[in-house]
Amino acid sequence: MSDAAFRELQRMFSALVASTSAAPNLADVLADRAFDLFEANIDGQTVHLPALACAKGCPSCCALRVTATAPEIFLLARYIRQIDARMSDTALGSLARRVKLANRTTRGLGEAERMTLRQPCPFVVRGGCIIHAVRPLACRGHASFDRRACAQAMAGRDVEVPVSAPHVALRSLVQDSLRAALDAAGLASGLYELNQGLALALDDPERERAWRGGEDSLAAARIEPSAAARTDQLWSRAAGDEAAVRDEA
Ligand code: SF4
Repeated sequence: MSDAAFRELQRMFSALVASTSAAPNLADVLADRAFDLFEANIDGQTVHLPALACAKGCPSCCALRVTATAPEIFLLARYIRQIDARMSDTALGSLARRVKLANRTTRGLGEAERMTLRQPCPFVVRGGCIIHAVRPLACRGHASFDRRACAQAMAGRDVEVPVSAPHVALRSLVQDSLRAALDAAGLASGLYELNQGLALALDDPERERAWRGGEDSLAAARIEPSAAARTDQLWSRAAGDEAAVRDEA
């Protein structure tokens, strides 16, 4: 990771926290900027690489454990509430309920156990991600060049999946600089297991206000960084290319 890029992004996120800290939409502002930064820079980082195998209709990796920061989780919880308010009578059912049911099965499981369980993410519908626009950085940063190897890995075969190192590096750069800015501002900066973090946020909307007040209100879902890093290691051994960013958001 480039130190200069990391410091630049940390300063940018810190300025956002300072200018938005009193506002109830702090989580949305931070998560939106993090997603924008990733999307605005990933094409430039990968232009020299072969085409990715990832495509709509392939949810192979969507049974892996996903970790996310508090801003990503609170943004997604709000999105889910809005979708549920509009679509409660559809065949899809309540997204909040899907999260709750998934969490009952996955809560407390380690990454290796999740790979064995192969329970799909609650947002996989007909092979696609129904929350694609607000999917976490972890999902954005996971991209493969070999669809067959993905399927074999998820079936428990001992194969190495060739993943895009720039995706991994850019996700780390954006996420780590966001977390450093949160930490510097006295806000909980942990990584949380997605199903459990969302279940907590959906269960009690006051948890977001508590997080803005400096409380680690999603602590029950917290994943220690070394355990979170094992997801990438288990899936593949991507080289850690350096990532540089343009902040055009
Ligand atoms: S949030 Fe979307 S992309 Fe991420 S694991 Fe779930 S279905 Fe897949």
